[in-house]
Amino acid sequence: MRYSDEIIEEVRSRNDIVDVIGQYVHLQKKGANHFGLCPFHNEKSGSFSVSAHKQMYYCFGCGAGGNVITFLMKYDNLTFQEAVKQLADRAGIKLPDEDDSPAAKAMRDKRQILLDINKEAAKYYYYQLRGRTGQKGMEYFRGRQLSDETMQHFGLGYANITSDDLVKHLKSLGYEDSQIIDAGLASYDEKYGTHDKFWNRVMFPIQDASQKVIGFGGRVL
Ligand code: ZN
Repeated sequence: MRYSDEIIEEVRSRNDIVDVIGQYVHLQKKGANHFGLCPFHNEKSGSFSVSAHKQMYYCFGCGAGGNVITFLMKYDNLTFQEAVKQLADRAGIKLPDEDDSPAAKAMRDKRQILLDINKEAAKYYYYQLRGRTGQKGMEYFRGRQLSDETMQHFGLGYANITSDDLVKHLKSLGYEDSQIIDAGLASYDEKYGTHDKFWNRVMFPIQDASQKVIGFGGRVL
């Protein structure tokens, strides 16, 4: 079930992050922010900060950060939908029932296919970076002092120099040209047919709040 942006915004705005996190972490106000011991790493002095103004949290110790929904997801190991549901209940917001019309279902299926394609592409770029053809990309990231952990954490990847290998890979998994183009990963022209949109680039997956890959940023080498 995918909730509309409006309902997610309502859930977020009616669950003050200081109140919610305050149920789990002892917070003390210091200046504009609240501080406490980080629940995501072991520490003796509080480097975990919560901003009422920004409605965000951030840990200076381990880098964990996000909003009230992603806090709950991480703290209670919930999916995005579960966290939204829990917070909606907390604020007395009634969530809409799933729309069962065929049109709504077709829309959900289509969105799911696009997410699946993006996930496969992220995996493909990820392994390209770590393979022989990815050397150039790896040198770029190493030159920027990125550790293996950071690269892994952000799922960084590489689109190699050939301009149709991703399309071929995705088609071998059963996806159609039109779906790959809709996902923003390929273009079509008469001369080259369906071809990769990204090549010779280091790739950064862009994730939504539920940590699904919804697109990519790239940097040409
Ligand atoms: Zn931390």
